[in-house]
Amino acid sequence: MTRLALRGDLLDFTGLPALGDVDSPAVRFRPDHWLLIEDGRIVAVQAEAPGEDWRREDHRGRLILPGFVDTHVHCPQLDVIASYGATLLDWLQTYTFPAEQRFADPAVARAGAELFLDALLAHGTTSAVVFATVHAVSAEALFEAASVRGMRLITGKVLMDRHAPEGLRDDVEGARRDCEAQIARWHGQGRNAFAVTVRFAITSTPEQLAMAGGLLQRHEGLYMQTHVAENLDEVRWVKELFPQARSYLDVYHQHGLLNERAVLAHGIWLDDTDRALLRDIGAHIAFCPSSNLFLGSGLFNWAEARAVGHGVSMASDVGGGTSLSMLRTVAEAYKVQALRGTRMTAWAGLHAATLGAAQALGLAHELGALEPGRLADVCVWDWASGPVAGHRDAVATGQVVPLPAQSLHARVFAWMTLADERNLTAAYVAGQCRWQRPMPIPDPV
Ligand SMILES: [Zn+2]
Repeated sequence: MTRLALRGDLLDFTGLPALGDVDSPAVRFRPDHWLLIEDGRIVAVQAEAPGEDWRREDHRGRLILPGFVDTHVHCPQLDVIASYGATLLDWLQTYTFPAEQRFADPAVARAGAELFLDALLAHGTTSAVVFATVHAVSAEALFEAASVRGMRLITGKVLMDRHAPEGLRDDVEGARRDCEAQIARWHGQGRNAFAVTVRFAITSTPEQLAMAGGLLQRHEGLYMQTHVAENLDEVRWVKELFPQARSYLDVYHQHGLLNERAVLAHGIWLDDTDRALLRDIGAHIAFCPSSNLFLGSGLFNWAEARAVGHGVSMASDVGGGTSLSMLRTVAEAYKVQALRGTRMTAWAGLHAATLGAAQALGLAHELGALEPGRLADVCVWDWASGPVAGHRDAVATGQVVPLPAQSLHARVFAWMTLADERNLTAAYVAGQCRWQRPMPIPDPV
């Protein structure tokens, strides 16, 4: 039996915080507590130190949160993150598709998957819903690399049989065979789950969409991931391709692609009928603020999503997004909501990147909270990195006279806004330390 105890300021959520409630009762903050982990699972949280039979790691003065969940991110797009001057459709043609073509090579796919998952861990993300490429080998490489790291991973080969260049198109029958093989080999194996992965309505024929819907019907418990209503040119093209559909979202609905495990990225240009459909089915939107700003796609309306009542999780959408850091992502979400006239608390943002995502994915029994019974996917963070954030945190905690100490929300909001992967001290997956900050090289004697 392995026993590990982590000491720090524990922050997590017990419910859904209202978007603008800085005093939300859904916040659970347990400063200077011990998180007790036995065989990879959280077994207790307590104020007093555990006995000598526990391996103790003292992170006093640091924050401990559940590992972040990134619900929409593209493994092969690390090659094109931070590429200049495009909107969605020319972004795909100019940058993304050429990068994805490289993943036909199994060696590239394997190296890409390992680089990508290690990068997620180094940013404090311990679980993800990931786009591979159209090549079966790209998804298999991700499943293999995630298994080695013990990470919860949801992916599947991408379906695209039209409007994509040579080398990035499959066909209905070949895609069906590849998906069936991946479901048999990987779905439910360890922490892997298969997602039927339609890139978007534009790159799949109606026949392929119908085949994808058939997969979801035949196999219990599959996820579905895709993009929806990200950009106005895209929405117009979908309308031309599927004139009989009521809306973009309705294309997926008509082909049997929406279920309670469906993750739809963006959803900027939806109407209330679409939102009600998401709510009634239990599907949810992955909000990708840094991508939406970077590609100029639009401002997601979280308040309307809340008013109708469908789920929203937080996602980096790298490479359209500009950072794998979920802290950067949540900070961008605040700015997008500010432009929408909505004040988003740190609680709402951090919840959507932890417990909210876990619930939306049906995984709250496994991850997303510092709660006995959950796997110990947890990250340890410095409250501040660098002199500006250090000073700001000192102001928040009342160490700068004569300024009074500020509220917990004020401190966490400043952390969320200023922090990134440089604040990460260590990342644990199921109780195993999978990333820790390199020690500084000592001066020569
Ligand atoms: Zn995307």
